Amino acid sequence: MMLLATPTAVADATAASIFVTVLARGPIARSEIATALGLSAGTISRAVRPLLDSGYLVEDGAGGPPRLGRPVVPLRVVADREFMVGVKLTADHVCGVVVDLLAQVRASREAAVTDTSVPAVVATVTDLVEQLRADAPGPVTRIGIGVGGHVDSAAQLIRFAPFLNWRDVPLPELVSATTGLPVVVENDVNSLTAAEQWFGAGVDVPSFAVVTIGAGIGCGLVIAGSLVHGAVGLAGELGHIPISADGPRCRCGNTGCVETVASEEAILRRVRAASGRDDLDLATAVALGRAGDRDAVGAFTAAGDALGRALAVVANLINPHRIVLSGEGLAASDLFESAARASFATHAFGQAVECDLITRPLPDHTWARGAAAVAIQHLFLGPTPTNGR
Ligand SMILES: [Zn+2]
Repeated sequence: MMLLATPTAVADATAASIFVTVLARGPIARSEIATALGLSAGTISRAVRPLLDSGYLVEDGAGGPPRLGRPVVPLRVVADREFMVGVKLTADHVCGVVVDLLAQVRASREAAVTDTSVPAVVATVTDLVEQLRADAPGPVTRIGIGVGGHVDSAAQLIRFAPFLNWRDVPLPELVSATTGLPVVVENDVNSLTAAEQWFGAGVDVPSFAVVTIGAGIGCGLVIAGSLVHGAVGLAGELGHIPISADGPRCRCGNTGCVETVASEEAILRRVRAASGRDDLDLATAVALGRAGDRDAVGAFTAAGDALGRALAVVANLINPHRIVLSGEGLAASDLFESAARASFATHAFGQAVECDLITRPLPDHTWARGAAAVAIQHLFLGPTPTNGR
């Protein structure tokens, strides 16, 4: 693996917990960090020192009112201490961002992918990274790459990326060789989940799920503070949960998968079959649904129902505090969200139904920012531990 050694000053579980606490709640006093983490004031002071010395945290000069005669000096993260590049790979383009340590996007660029061979994509990503390094307000120290498909994060290998038709590609090693920076690759939905965990809707809850809808149905799971990868990196294949005994064949080869009803392709297939228009596109299907066309409304409602069942599976299996619904498919949520919520309420077991189910539309560059968030996590946590290994 081409990850450079993490600086020992910050590669420590306690330091990582402190950094995350300051990220989420800063400016925050050491005593409040101690209370939040259930650690002694002495332990916090010792662990904070290297983070201050290496410039990741700073004492907030404004301070607070003195308590018991001692000045309370809150800590905050130094956003500009260093910068990360995040890249999202798709079949026809790459999107890249520069983020600071608060995962705020400071620059962004895109490049077309016309040749999906590994050397060509590595060259495109390398060019994009070099441009982003020039755009960055300060030194870029790491790169995170997000890609759809089966990513083995322990081995740092793309096992299978269907839209690129790649198998067993050591992309981090290749991009590290051309850029000289440590590189980490992660599944795209897991990247989005990592961003929510440290910087978004997962900050205040130990267990939550991110479910993405669009071309496929994806799911990232954080249980008791850890992103779940499973034995070989396939945890969260929510789109391939079987929800009916028959039905259309799925791209995975099985029948009855959630995606055979709830993916954009499945919705289109239904509307095309009903209308007899084989060239009908998604925007037209959405417009038909909004105009009250019975077949289009039926297709989106069926998709919502299937999605609700899938969300109930997540709730019944891991009982998360929150489920975050996101992805490009949310653009048409007016056509399926109420069906999804009704189906979720029907199928969620007992109090699992009380799970906080929220929708989070994707701002621009969200996927690339997610990959950058994984790079930030690696700075403080080292390589992602793989569950079950
Ligand atoms: Zn399937």
